[in-house]
Amino acid sequence: MIAAEKRCDLMVIGSGMAGMAASLFASRRGISTIVIGHTGSIRFFSGLIDLMSVYPISTGKTWENPWEAIRILSTDQEHPHPYSRIQRYRIVKAMDEFLSFLSESGLPYYRDSNRNHAVITSQGTLKQTFAVPHTMVAGVEAFHQKEPCLLIRFPELKGFSSRQIQETMNGIWPSVRSIDLPFPNHFHELFPEQMARELEIPSCREELVRSILPHLKDAAAVGFPAVLGIEKSMEVHADLEKRLGVRVFEIPCLPPSIPGLRLQTIFQHQLVQLGVQTYFQQQVDKVTALDTGGFLLYVGEGLDQIRIHARGVILATGRFFSKGLAAERTGIRETVFNLPVHQPENRAYWHNPDFLARSGHAINTAGLSIDDSFRPLDQSGQPAFPTLFAAGSILAHQDWIRMKCGAGLSIATAYAAVEAFEKQVHGHGI
Ligand SMILES: Cc1cc2nc3c(=O)[nH]c(=O)nc-3n(C[C@H](O)[C@H](O)[C@H](O)COP(=O)(O)OP(=O)(O)OC[C@H]3O[C@@H](n4cnc5c(N)ncnc54)[C@H](O)[C@@H]3O)c2cc1C
Repeated sequence: MIAAEKRCDLMVIGSGMAGMAASLFASRRGISTIVIGHTGSIRFFSGLIDLMSVYPISTGKTWENPWEAIRILSTDQEHPHPYSRIQRYRIVKAMDEFLSFLSESGLPYYRDSNRNHAVITSQGTLKQTFAVPHTMVAGVEAFHQKEPCLLIRFPELKGFSSRQIQETMNGIWPSVRSIDLPFPNHFHELFPEQMARELEIPSCREELVRSILPHLKDAAAVGFPAVLGIEKSMEVHADLEKRLGVRVFEIPCLPPSIPGLRLQTIFQHQLVQLGVQTYFQQQVDKVTALDTGGFLLYVGEGLDQIRIHARGVILATGRFFSKGLAAERTGIRETVFNLPVHQPENRAYWHNPDFLARSGHAINTAGLSIDDSFRPLDQSGQPAFPTLFAAGSILAHQDWIRMKCGAGLSIATAYAAVEAFEKQVHGHGI
């Protein structure tokens, strides 16, 4: 006896950025889809959608034009970055579809199709990114114009100091001021999620604005830590702008990240609306490849076990943090299919002896080698299974943290994997 037997065309394993994007693209193409996974690193995601801004990482060269960086990295045949397998117009389509979906779901993003934008971080540094949530745009513009600006810090919120931002930016943006203000209702200590929910209440915003107005002076914009609401972030942002009479922006904070939570909330609601069957906070425990093609996937054990028959799978299980890869004494292992992992010869080469070396560590570019259809390869260099595809940070030959290509890599490779699935499974009638 088992709890349930399910069937689908496509099983997406992983519900981080890549898995969510793959489920979105698949369901919009009418592919019956099941997605499964724990929260993943989406709750850490700052809200900024990076496409590509640093290449090569050994020199730390920063690119204002992400496409130029992608064009150049795609010439590296020896270490083929996953982007090198996707033509530019397909990456553009992936980003367009993903960002339109977010906009239709009430989370609009701003971007300039050929240019990264400089965004202030919570450390007072600048980060180049491709697409900026609407709630952060005024900060990009205020910095660009070097407008007088007031930054708010809530002492109850740990890990965010507007004074640090002010001091770090002083040389390039002298007209930034910062103040500490108690969060309305005088809580002792608050978590970002509580603050975000409180700010969805109009009376809380009213009290906050009342405490800011005497300090506003010449400020043309006011910056807050990124806690301006979860489901109602657009409403909170617009209301604060109206009440303050100046532009308002959010600054990304340390995790847990409210912009990440916004994205997760949207996906969890909208994917169900799109007909995707979701198994959140669960995992695939075992997989069997069927002789007839396709897979049988097992979730849970005993009487609670769910068995899922899928014609194809997109593996988007992430890296070590999300347990898609496991680092063991004998080497790095892929955890669901036991696929070969591109990795240094032995553990001694995982890390650069200079821990802070700009070029990073070999372990960070370990991952799955794939063909042009995003199918993981077996030991002989052939696709391990005809209908198994992979997407996101589990892929080899990329260091998304240093290259600043996290979300872009997840979205573009999810798009390519769904297209490849469609072609392989529907095209060949598997
Ligand atoms: C702290 C932090 C900040 C970030 N900030 C940014 C940013 O500012 N801009 C940007 O562009 N990107 C950012 N990113 C990166 C962005 O979130 C990436 O796109 C992401 O890390 C890679 O996504 P992924 O879906 O490949 O993997 P993950 O998000 O790691 O998701 C993997 C998923 O696989 C699931 N899984 C693993 N094993 C199984 C199993 N056996 N069965 C079922 N499910 C399984 C996990 O539960 C999880 O849901 C940030 C990431 C982190 C960690």
